[in-house]
Amino acid sequence: MRKLGYRVLLLLGVTLLAGFLGLTLFFTRHEEQASLAQGERMVLLLSETIIEGLQTVMLSGAAESTREYIHNLKKLSDIREVVVLRNDGHEAFRDNRTIIDVNQRLGSDQFPKRQLEVPPLAVIQPGDPILNQLASIDSEAVVRYSYDADDRRLLTVFMPIRNRDSCQGCHGSIQVNRGLVKISTSLARIEEELERASYSAWVGVFSAMLSILIMTYVVITRSVIRPIEQMKRAMGYVVGKQVERFIPQYGSCEEFDNMAASFNHMTAELHRYHRGLQSEQQKLETIIHSAREGIVVTDQQGDVVLVNPAAELLLGKAAPRIRDEDFSNIIDDPDYINASLASSGTENSIPETVFYNGKLLNIYTAMIRTPDGSPLGAAALIRDVTEEKKLEQQLRQVSNTDALTGLNNRRRFDELLLEEFDRACRYKLDIAIILFDVDHFKKFNDEHGHDQGDRVLQAIGNKMLEVFRVIDAPCRYGGEEFVVILPSTNRDGAIMVAERFRQAVAQMVVDGLCVTVSIGVAVWPLVKYDNGQAMVKGADNALYQAKHAGRNRVCLAQESS
Ligand code: GH3
Ligand code: MG
Ligand code: MG
Repeated sequence: MRKLGYRVLLLLGVTLLAGFLGLTLFFTRHEEQASLAQGERMVLLLSETIIEGLQTVMLSGAAESTREYIHNLKKLSDIREVVVLRNDGHEAFRDNRTIIDVNQRLGSDQFPKRQLEVPPLAVIQPGDPILNQLASIDSEAVVRYSYDADDRRLLTVFMPIRNRDSCQGCHGSIQVNRGLVKISTSLARIEEELERASYSAWVGVFSAMLSILIMTYVVITRSVIRPIEQMKRAMGYVVGKQVERFIPQYGSCEEFDNMAASFNHMTAELHRYHRGLQSEQQKLETIIHSAREGIVVTDQQGDVVLVNPAAELLLGKAAPRIRDEDFSNIIDDPDYINASLASSGTENSIPETVFYNGKLLNIYTAMIRTPDGSPLGAAALIRDVTEEKKLEQQLRQVSNTDALTGLNNRRRFDELLLEEFDRACRYKLDIAIILFDVDHFKKFNDEHGHDQGDRVLQAIGNKMLEVFRVIDAPCRYGGEEFVVILPSTNRDGAIMVAERFRQAVAQMVVDGLCVTVSIGVAVWPLVKYDNGQAMVKGADNALYQAKHAGRNRVCLAQESS
């Protein structure tokens, strides 16, 4: 996070440096130009003053004093050179040329010649454009800058000395200028002052920049970096699941305070959800652990990640063993579990009952998927249905059994008949039905009582179980009527069995009492019955015939009615 602060400082520093550099350069340059202009004005003024002095001295006729005057001017500080030139650029007051010219013009030897004549010196070389420039009536002065041996700047002014009326007596009136004055001044002092000013300016600029940077750093640290660091730390806590941590609000920056408030609100909500989830998870864990159903869950890789105590109990294995073995081995039948998982989510995904660990277990497997269908794992729900199946079987037994005789009841008979007739038709097998009724049973009841009648009916039931095969499914058809289905039995076999049973009943003694039965036999395909009920009807008709024929006999149904 420090890096952000440094980066901001670096950016600000570079910006400030560029700004201040530009400003300082602009102002120092401006200052320099202003100082030079001021210097120029001063030198021009000095030049004019010198020229006025020269004119005065010359007009007074003391031309020779001019040399002294010029010489004294050189003593002025910063004045490097003061020279009076003739219009051709040669130094005046050096040779006798001007004196000779003036004396000739005046026609006298008014001005005595110099005894020590020095050769002429061309200060401005002939042909230098300055000479032409200054010869113009419009020209004021020519200013030139140069550098001396110490690399200090020199300001040189060439200023024309105008040929006034008062001068023309001696020097004539042909030329605009009487001569030139060249003054060179050193700008060293101005340059030193400028350097000092520039140095002060730079020191001021860097001090200001440093102050701004320090202030900015302090402000950024307090207003930006510290809140961000707080937020970063708080986010770290959230990542470390410590969602109850909050960021303090400084009140120094509205945006960060708003951000901190939003973050705190978010973490508070997160904390609430987290606690809610934890509570839900605890509930779920309690439910899973206390469930009577066994639950085994895998993760995406198929590793078992959850086994509840019920699963351990039902499967007869400890959780570590279930975890170690593959999920598909929970009932030691991988094919079954894999097939069950494959059918998960389809119409065929019906839990099936298997016998495992001495119990009947109902196992329902399912893939756990995300809302978009990606697999997250698998789960198995295991339920002990041993008692349930027992009860179911008992119920089925009761609903199929006649309470008095223990034989199949009429409801069960109808089911069995449907199945057996269907099977006989499909496999082209014989099938027979024996239907019989106790003779004069009303009278028997009347004579011996209903209970005695019941005991007889029970004895007949026992006899049926004795005589007929289990697959013949002996049934009480209703009242004192009974019926037997004889699969794979033809006409002769059926008559033989019926006869044998008739005789067995006739010989049976119950509490010293005897009864007889009349029997009707129907055989398929001897008679082409359409269905089982038609066969029953055929057997009933045959039974009716047996009754009419004198009872205690067997009659065969001959044709469909
Ligand atoms: P038939 O020889 O013509 O069959 O004469 P039947 O008297 O047996 O006549 P029917 O079959 O019509 O009479 C049936 C009698 O069977 C009437 C009823 O008293 C008796 N019965 C029916 N169900 C029971 C039962 O569960 N227990 C007893 N004890 N008697 C029953
Ligand atoms: Mg009857
Ligand atoms: Mg009867």
